[in-house]
Amino acid sequence: SEPTFFYYTDEKEMVKLLEERPRFSHKGSYGHAFICGGSYGKVGAALMCAEAALTAGSGLVSALVPRCGYQVLQTSVPEVMCVPTSDEDLITGIQPEFTPDTVALGPGMGKDEQTFRAVMEFLNTYHGYLVLDADGLNILAEHPEMWDALPGQTVITPHPGEFKRLVGAWKDDNECLEMAMQLAKRRNVIVVLKGAYTLVTDGDGVYFNSTGNPGMATGGSGDVLTGIIASLLGQDYAPLEATRLGVFLHGLSADIAIRDTSVWALKATDIIDYLGDAFLFLQ
Ligand code: AMP
Ligand code: MG
Repeated sequence: SEPTFFYYTDEKEMVKLLEERPRFSHKGSYGHAFICGGSYGKVGAALMCAEAALTAGSGLVSALVPRCGYQVLQTSVPEVMCVPTSDEDLITGIQPEFTPDTVALGPGMGKDEQTFRAVMEFLNTYHGYLVLDADGLNILAEHPEMWDALPGQTVITPHPGEFKRLVGAWKDDNECLEMAMQLAKRRNVIVVLKGAYTLVTDGDGVYFNSTGNPGMATGGSGDVLTGIIASLLGQDYAPLEATRLGVFLHGLSADIAIRDTSVWALKATDIIDYLGDAFLFLQ
C-alpha cells in the first residue's frame, strides 16, 4: 500500500497559504456562504457559525434557520442575510434563492425526520463545497444512504463522540487514526477529527494542528470552526488547504484570546472576536 505521510501544520506554512485581498476585489470575489442550522433552543449554533463565516472573510453570508431564529439572527448579526424556513422550530426545507458557493450544514439543527428529508432533497441538487458538522453528522450516522449524496471533498468535522457514531468504536489512537484515513479515502471526504492537536486527513496525508488550547472545550467552539472552514472554501482555497488553514486560525484565535480572558473564561464567541488578531498574526 501507499506510504502514509504525517505532517505538523505550523505557522510558517500557514503564513504562505494565507491569500491577500487584492485591491480591485469585491464581495463577489470571496464567496457567498450559506449556513444551515438551528432549531428551537439551538439557534445560537447557527448564529455563531454564520458570524464566524463572516469574520473569516466571506463576501456574503446567508443563514437558513427555522422561523424562531429570524429576529435574533437579524438583530445580532445584521451583516448576515436570513432565510427563514416555513416551520417555526425546525428546518423543514432548504431552498436558497441564490446559488451558494459554499455551504455549512448541521450546527444546532436537530435530527428530526423532516430535517433529514430536507437535507436529502437539498443534497440531490447541490454539488458545491460542503462542511458537514454536528447534527448534520448525527443525521448521517442514522441514515448511511446520505453518504452517496455528499459532494466530493465534503469536509466532515466530528468530535470523537460524533466520529464514533459514524464509524464505531476504536481500541487505541492508532486504530482511530486508521479509521479516519480509511473513511476519508472510501467516501472521498476530508475528515477533521477534533480535539487537542486536531487531525485533518484526506486519506493520503495526515495533518496534526499545532494551535488551540483546553479553553476551547466549551459549547459552540465547533460551530465557529465550521463557519471558518466553509468561508475559506468559498474564498477558493482548495478543500484540504481551506480545512487546514481554518483549523489553524480557529486554534490560533483561541490562543490569542486566552491571553486576555484565560482558558477558564474562554467562550466560543471569543474565538470569533479574536479571529481578526489571528489573521493579523499571520499577515
Ligand atoms: P465541538 O465539540 O464540536 O464544540 O468542537 C470543539 C472544538 O474545540 C474543536 O475545534 C476542538 O479541536 C477544540 N477543542 C476542544 N478541546 C480542546 C483541547 N483540549 N485542546 C485544543 N482544542 C480543543
Ligand atoms: Mg460541535
